[in-house]
Amino acid sequence: MPVDSKDTMKPEASVPSNFIRQVIQADLESGRYEGRVVTRFPPEPNGYLHIGHAKSICLNFGFAEEFGGTCHLRFDDTNPLKENVSYVDSIKEDVKWLGFDWDVHLYFASDYFDRFYDYAIDLIKTGKAYVDSLTPEEIRSYRGTLTEPGKESPYRHRTVEENLELFQKMAAGKFDEGECVLRAKIDMAAPNIIMRDPTLYRIRKRPHHRTGDKWCIYPMYDFAHCLSDSIERITHSICTLEFENNRELYDWILDTLDIYHPRQIEFARLNLSYTILSKRKLIELVEGGYVDGWNDPRMPTISGFRRRGYTPEAIRNFCERIGVAKRDSMVDLALLEHCIREDLNKRAPRFMGVLRPLKVVIENYPADKVETLEAINNPEDQSMGTRNIPFSREFYIEKDDFMETPPKKFFRLAPGREVRLRYAYFITCTDFIKDEQGEVVELRCTYDPQTRGGDSPDGRKVKSTLHWVSATHAIDAEVRLYNDLFTVEEPVSAEDFKAVLNKDSLEILHGAKLEPALADLEIGKQCQFERLGYFCKDVKYSTSDHSVFNRIVTLRDQWAKVKKQQGANERK
Ligand code: ATP
Ligand code: MG
Repeated sequence: MPVDSKDTMKPEASVPSNFIRQVIQADLESGRYEGRVVTRFPPEPNGYLHIGHAKSICLNFGFAEEFGGTCHLRFDDTNPLKENVSYVDSIKEDVKWLGFDWDVHLYFASDYFDRFYDYAIDLIKTGKAYVDSLTPEEIRSYRGTLTEPGKESPYRHRTVEENLELFQKMAAGKFDEGECVLRAKIDMAAPNIIMRDPTLYRIRKRPHHRTGDKWCIYPMYDFAHCLSDSIERITHSICTLEFENNRELYDWILDTLDIYHPRQIEFARLNLSYTILSKRKLIELVEGGYVDGWNDPRMPTISGFRRRGYTPEAIRNFCERIGVAKRDSMVDLALLEHCIREDLNKRAPRFMGVLRPLKVVIENYPADKVETLEAINNPEDQSMGTRNIPFSREFYIEKDDFMETPPKKFFRLAPGREVRLRYAYFITCTDFIKDEQGEVVELRCTYDPQTRGGDSPDGRKVKSTLHWVSATHAIDAEVRLYNDLFTVEEPVSAEDFKAVLNKDSLEILHGAKLEPALADLEIGKQCQFERLGYFCKDVKYSTSDHSVFNRIVTLRDQWAKVKKQQGANERK
């Protein structure tokens, strides 16, 4: 996947000028397709969908929605070697989850195999296709280069009758794989190498997941794709830039057969920093055990994002903001995370959870007393109401919220210092206890009963507010923190992308303490742990008596910083 240009795009700026929309609008005005808009999303079922596919899905389904048209989900299942049914199921699930509906328009290219075959016969009959018996190596060497024209195959001038007979024999299994292929007869000196008598059909003696043993010849992508578009009467065939050179062949096949002809439009594929968006490479990560399956929360797959706790709304918003362009560029991962935060900030209820607990005992608080304090579920949305949190003499705070000898800018808890406990009281640290290794394992504090709810009646100020969880009421949890899967911005450019995997991309914390209300949180539902980030209960590893939480994103938004930097670079 080449990245032609390294300059960072300005996602927001490209939203209004959408060249694809303009083409569709112009076609609607000129009546080219009788006012119809029919698009399609054509995945090959050879892996799970990733965020790049989401961009394509949003465009295709989005335009259909915008112009009152339809969008087809079509499986481009023409290669029996790499495809299987589980991929078909996962792709359907992912498209639905993203919020799109193909209604009755679910198609499989393999359903058109008979028609493709008939079209191939038509080409042979008009002298536009021939069976070539060169070996695959010879075909390659006859093709020529960018600077040298190709050489014609000695089989190029077989008669129509001979070609018909040979092609029928190919289909009947009379030849071995590689013994012959069907090629279009175009021009071996064409400047566009794709036009130098491209292969249309090859022999593959493999059963297909839908057509079984019926076929042992399979159409090439370039032949099957334009015909599928034509059969389904697609109006706008939107694809990624790497197919720009193939457009000439797309047009040639449909024009030569003189059949219905959609318009192919190319756009730049999504490249995301610190991420790989290539099914072939993602498969390597899965099969090599580098990740925990296709839906590992570190994977850029739709199913990985779903498990991680990303929402479809945030992903769609991201796809809208990056817009479409004609030029390759790299989108900053910080923008995706920004979209996730923006969405969750409004919707996710907040709770308190302590990831690395340090025990605190309030010496002047009665041992058997439990108070119920009221907490706001989401200050961004009052309608989400309040909940009760138990407070007692012993609770946990975050280990790094205490320092024995704090540096100047550390305002949290330290010996002799007073801080606020969120929704509870002001406390002052009076003492601390260390274990044999010298690590602080317990704090002794006093509280001020006058500060219930977190306000001091005398206007006394404290410099920080800590989150906490009552020790006797806490639920135990495992928490999984995720970081970028790769250590470099452009892992595809590395000699071996597996060598730049981030070995700290997953950190598992076993002893987290969470407020009791989190026991009722549905699996997969997002929430915020105050001060720490957004989390959700993992669908794969949570059980009724073992909670596992995924960190979706931290609260720290890098996007504003990235944008500022981009602005500065532009002014330079
Ligand atoms: P990959 O490179 O991941 O294997 P692909 O193009 O081979 O992707 P397909 O299943 O053929 O995967 O893709 C289905 C559709 O999604 C195609 O129209 C393709 O152009 C589009 N698509 C794939 N990757 C991206 C991407 N990174 N950005 C935008 N669209 C993409
Ligand atoms: Mg493809």
